[in-house]
Amino acid sequence: MNNPLGTTGLTLNEPLLWEKGRKGRSGFSMPGRDVPPSPLAGFLLGDGPDFPDLSEVDIVRHYTRLSQWNYGVDSGMYPLGSCTMKYNPKTNERQAAVRGFANAHPLLPAPLSQGILELMANLQKYLGEITGLPAVTLQPAAGAHGELTGMMIVRAYHVDAGAPRHKILIPDTAHGTNPASSAICGFTPVPVKSNERGVLSPEHIASVMDEDTAGIMITNPNTLGLFEENIREITDIVHEKGGLVYVDGANMNAVMGIVSMGKIGVDLMHLNLHKTFSTPHGGGGPGSGPVCARKGLAPFMPVPWVEEHEGTYSLSYDHPKSIGKVHAFYGNVGILIRACSYILSMGQNLKKASQLAVLNANYVKEKLKDTFYLPYDRPCMHECVFTDKHQEAHKVTTLDIAKRLIDYGFHPPTIYFPLVVHGAIMIEPTETESRETLDIFIETCKAIAEEARKNPQILHEAPTKPKVRRMDETRAARHPQLAG
Ligand SMILES: *Cc1c(COP(=O)(O)O)cnc(C)c1O
Repeated sequence: MNNPLGTTGLTLNEPLLWEKGRKGRSGFSMPGRDVPPSPLAGFLLGDGPDFPDLSEVDIVRHYTRLSQWNYGVDSGMYPLGSCTMKYNPKTNERQAAVRGFANAHPLLPAPLSQGILELMANLQKYLGEITGLPAVTLQPAAGAHGELTGMMIVRAYHVDAGAPRHKILIPDTAHGTNPASSAICGFTPVPVKSNERGVLSPEHIASVMDEDTAGIMITNPNTLGLFEENIREITDIVHEKGGLVYVDGANMNAVMGIVSMGKIGVDLMHLNLHKTFSTPHGGGGPGSGPVCARKGLAPFMPVPWVEEHEGTYSLSYDHPKSIGKVHAFYGNVGILIRACSYILSMGQNLKKASQLAVLNANYVKEKLKDTFYLPYDRPCMHECVFTDKHQEAHKVTTLDIAKRLIDYGFHPPTIYFPLVVHGAIMIEPTETESRETLDIFIETCKAIAEEARKNPQILHEAPTKPKVRRMDETRAARHPQLAG
């Protein structure tokens, strides 16, 4: 049989709808017409586009099969370090689909948009409370966009103080977007080394902080999954020289309800709603990276501001020191609704979510530290970083291990990041995985390490089971074929 129906084996060969279509096939039947055809019909409708003719079952099977080629957090564990791929409760999707919200139009005047404006004002309050930084903008569309917005605010602050500064300190454990965002904003990133414990030392910061440095951009918890334990001293050093402290808060999932960033001296930060606050992400879908700042930075926040006066909500634009707009209309509002729904349905349990995220990461770390090499053997936050050092002798690499995990039904973790760790395998289990799932993941990793010893060839060939085998990633990056 040379045209398999795509129902055998793991490879679901699914042709294009154009190849599946058969002239005259249809997904519905209509009663015969009991009026004469209008002479205008042919003129107005023409022959129509050349769509394939298909039955309902053809179409349902086509899209169901395509959806099964995907791996998502709804199909299994997704331990992607630095990205918090946790399960997102479906109720939050439902709230975003409520008709009043889903059909709201950004061009409607404020008096006709009170519900959504109230939701945005409330979300700003909640995020201000969670971070300890009460001035909040919901406009940025992603984490990196929040960073850029934050850097623009830092710049505006120094210009307003009469002394624009040119440099920004970026630790080697920062997320890769940090130096990029500050450079796009016109700052010169100054790399700062972390110490042998994987965190920043105050002495080192003191030696590089000067009066031409606008501030520091710290990913906290950092990309090694470690909390910057000297943050208090570091913020004092930066403030003494007139700089601002920016925190990349994309890893807030580890510290919600536990650390008040405002209290530890942070001036401004961004959050990733599409990591911590329940929006599915990946594939470049819409995100949201609100920036939260201390009160003194409020005048620089993007316009419009959502304001409340005696129970009525409005948008105000007249803020001369504002950096201006950073997104069309008011940001990706659908994501804001999901975040608001998540925060309200979690309540005090937000803190518990962080505690469980940290517990799960430490559980994985302890259970696997004899299997994979653990460069920083100390309590971690929401993620732990291993390397392939123990597997080197068998010529098995981090990439082989990650690819083999696919054969066992897991999405691979983040690999070769952070750059400060050679051959990094970065695992973030998140709080939404059960003990049983974690145990299966751990057993799988141990089985793969055993294979590396006894049968390394199978790892070099992995993945063997999915539809697409190992790809030439360099070629894919250099010569992308975007037209199918
Ligand atoms: C994901 C992430 C970012 C970037 O966020 P995007 O929404 O992808 O732009 C920045 N910093 C850290 C620490 C992250 O984990």
